[in-house]
Amino acid sequence: MPEHRNTVLMIEDNPIHARLIHNLLKETGDDVYELITAVTLAEGLRRIEQDRIDIILLDLVLPDSQELDTFIRVRTAATQLPIIILTGLDDVSIAAKAVEAGAQDYLIKNEIKGPHLTRAMHYAIERVRATRGEWDSPMFRLAQQQFLKAAQIMDLDENIRERLLFPQRTHVITLPFRRDEYNVVETVFGYRVQHLLTMGPTKGGIRYHEDVNLGEVSALAMWMTWKCSLMNLPFGGAKGGVRIDPTGLSRSELQRLTRRYTSEIIDVIGPDKDIPAPDMGTDEQVMAWIMDTYSQQIGHTVPGVVTGKPVVLGGSLGRKEATGRGLVYLISAAARHIGMPLQGATAVVQGFGNVGSNTARFLEEEGVRLVAVSDVTTGIYNPNGLSYAELVDYAQKNRFLKGFPGGEAVTNKELLELPCDILAPAALQNQITAENADRIKCRILAEGANGPTNLEADEILNRKNIFILPDILGNAGGVTVSYFEWVQDIQNFMWTLKEINERLHGILLDAFQRTVARAETMHTDMRTAALIEGINRVTEAKLLRGIFP
Ligand code: NAD
Repeated sequence: MPEHRNTVLMIEDNPIHARLIHNLLKETGDDVYELITAVTLAEGLRRIEQDRIDIILLDLVLPDSQELDTFIRVRTAATQLPIIILTGLDDVSIAAKAVEAGAQDYLIKNEIKGPHLTRAMHYAIERVRATRGEWDSPMFRLAQQQFLKAAQIMDLDENIRERLLFPQRTHVITLPFRRDEYNVVETVFGYRVQHLLTMGPTKGGIRYHEDVNLGEVSALAMWMTWKCSLMNLPFGGAKGGVRIDPTGLSRSELQRLTRRYTSEIIDVIGPDKDIPAPDMGTDEQVMAWIMDTYSQQIGHTVPGVVTGKPVVLGGSLGRKEATGRGLVYLISAAARHIGMPLQGATAVVQGFGNVGSNTARFLEEEGVRLVAVSDVTTGIYNPNGLSYAELVDYAQKNRFLKGFPGGEAVTNKELLELPCDILAPAALQNQITAENADRIKCRILAEGANGPTNLEADEILNRKNIFILPDILGNAGGVTVSYFEWVQDIQNFMWTLKEINERLHGILLDAFQRTVARAETMHTDMRTAALIEGINRVTEAKLLRGIFP
């Protein structure tokens, strides 16, 4: 608990509710909070300007302002302050919207107990402190809000809820590497975040991208936790990254950067500790350099330190294409579930890297007509169908899709809104938002990328009855075959591609069926159901292990 007194501004016009909060604070005997009250928004805004406030408790329905607008006006006046919404049972959905728009939490007035109130305030203050700066990322907010929504629906143990909201270990480093021009040294930020150490070693990719920060990597690590748990894999979630645009680096620069990054995180990775894999901007070659650097330092070859390596170095058959292959297994299951034949269905794929190109390839193999694909440079649209082989051939020769002659050029924004049966975002986060969700026309949204859809968009898509394969299920084929790779490495054993694909299919289908069943029994959407499946297993493990000491 904070040592100094915190001034709590309560903006609440109902005297009964105001007295309730006042009494609850008094009852706890906790004198770290001093309460001041305002009964209108105008008075509240004046207090924010004049007084040194530490936290705001806000009723959204006031005499001079109503609902979300109330929150937005308070947030605009107090950009850095934690805000907890006080809501009645009838207005929970507006309170949830305020949380999505940046409030730290909400409390249902009739259900608040004294210790619960002070705990909620304490954590709201802590959360704001932590999310300033490095932590401040839309992706981290999305991951936390998704988790909080699932926690609310499943009535998650409050202690576990706070424990899982932030990663267990974070490593922020700055590292230098030489450019090809010998005297030029770049210093960049690097990260390795381990969200959960309860389930076994941690597992997660390494991303090279110019927007990477601690918040983004933490969001990805948190999603890895739920994903591994949903798949019943013996891993907790992790993720790493370097804030750099890798497309501007030569091969030797990329190698020097990777080797230095590996040596900076060498103490926290290892086959029993934390096992990296490829993500955006990294590939088999980067994994080979990480494995080599680690092995040189340890003194012998350690293939199990990374997955997604080339097969000749102990990589697994089928790993490279596993995420796309897995996504298509799940699309087939989803199509069967909604009674849509895959043969002759149409698909749009955003992104033509590892996940996007393999998704396109396996969709085509299933008889799906690929009508549009894209990469960072352009989208290509042809309602009569695009040929996967021609696209790959062009991308290999020209590096990007720009200029591909087999279709009409469209922007990535337009691409997402094209009519199709299957839409597979397989590039970046935050692609489907409240701005475009209404214009999305697919029947199945198959998330290959992590975090492509935000919460507001989710609601719209669910209302439109679009079947969503949420990222932690949709792209879990990658980590599942990574798990197979790790198992083969530590046992010095090789499985056939047939064995790998059969096991992958079995694991994904089982997770799909559990998610559908949970969504049905809990009357919730597929994303929340998948999260609850993942969170449940982690919770059970945490409660069984207890707390040290
Ligand atoms: P990649 O680097 O191989 O490919 C990324 C693709 O996205 C490229 O075609 C790139 O041109 C395109 N792209 C980049 N910026 C874009 C933009 N602004 N608009 C449109 N396209 C853009 O990366 P990847 O490994 O295929 O990863 C893609 C997504 O899938 C990421 O969200 C990643 O976290 C997720 N994912 C990857 C794996 C895996 O095994 N590689 C596993 C699970 C999830």
